[in-house]
Amino acid sequence: MMTNLEPMACGNCGHGLFRMYSAQREPSLKLVAQCNKCRSTSIIEPAPAALQIEFGEHSDGRLCCMRPTG
Ligand SMILES: [Zn+2]
Repeated sequence: MMTNLEPMACGNCGHGLFRMYSAQREPSLKLVAQCNKCRSTSIIEPAPAALQIEFGEHSDGRLCCMRPTG
């Protein structure tokens, strides 16, 4: 039994069964879920990670990129 999972459904018709396809395209793998009822498709792919640098406690500055000035 799987726990802590939410069932997913088609956003168009509400059906809950899908056919899954994989589309290998460099540099990442995509998955396509096609609704068994209305044939709507959803593309599932990883998003590139992004770093965010915020001010820490008691900081007047934070890390930044130093670009040489002309
Ligand atoms: Zn559907």
